[in-house]
Amino acid sequence: MAAPGLAERLAEVDGRIADAARAAGRDPAELTRIVVTKFHPASLVRELAALGVRDLGENRHQEAAAKAAELDDLPLTWHFVGQLQSNKARAVRRYASTVHSVDRESLVDALAARDDADAVLGCFVELNLTDDPGRGGVPPTGAEALAERVAAAPGLRLLGVMAVAPLGADPRPAFARVREVSERVRAIVPGAEAISAGMSDDFAEAIAEGATHLRIGTAITGNRPILG
Ligand SMILES: *Cc1c(COP(=O)(O)O)cnc(C)c1O
Repeated sequence: MAAPGLAERLAEVDGRIADAARAAGRDPAELTRIVVTKFHPASLVRELAALGVRDLGENRHQEAAAKAAELDDLPLTWHFVGQLQSNKARAVRRYASTVHSVDRESLVDALAARDDADAVLGCFVELNLTDDPGRGGVPPTGAEALAERVAAAPGLRLLGVMAVAPLGADPRPAFARVREVSERVRAIVPGAEAISAGMSDDFAEAIAEGATHLRIGTAITGNRPILG
């Protein structure tokens, strides 16, 4: 039997998203499914666009900028989901609608609008759910202060919180913690209700804990090409 193609994988994942939403008593229409296409060529993004995909995720600026430029004839929305150096912030702003990985005050300042011509940039405060400071994200105890900083910055709109479940642990309690932090943040910044959580292996658990933005790569794209 042939391996299932892109269209089949996309439909299969969307079916599982809808099932998980209904199991949680939620409307699948309130979820944004972002297809993370890092390491894949622009041609794959074009195929996804032909299948109706609009929200794309990338985690490296150079690769994202090149794809966004090559595909600027398509009605795509780019989400930046990777660790971001402050000196790249201005450049990411040019193509991304949303940055999911805001993890420090200096990055908030670098992303903030400089003049009225700058479009509003959606932001998620990224939480680090591990004890390893090398992972992206702010410790959950620092989420509220960072959220306030985003909310006060010109040209930024705080959408909510984002997290990656720690490797090798049950994702459900991790996402339950994200939900708690989300509630604390919403108490300070009303309207910052979104939760960016859930990847190929754990999106059902994330949906059960209130995720609104799913970042799904390999389950849809197939394995990423091996880097040479
Ligand atoms: C790569 C990546 C994803 C998607 O991961 P998959 O396991 O391939 O679904 C989601 N979020 C971030 C931040 C990523 O870097």
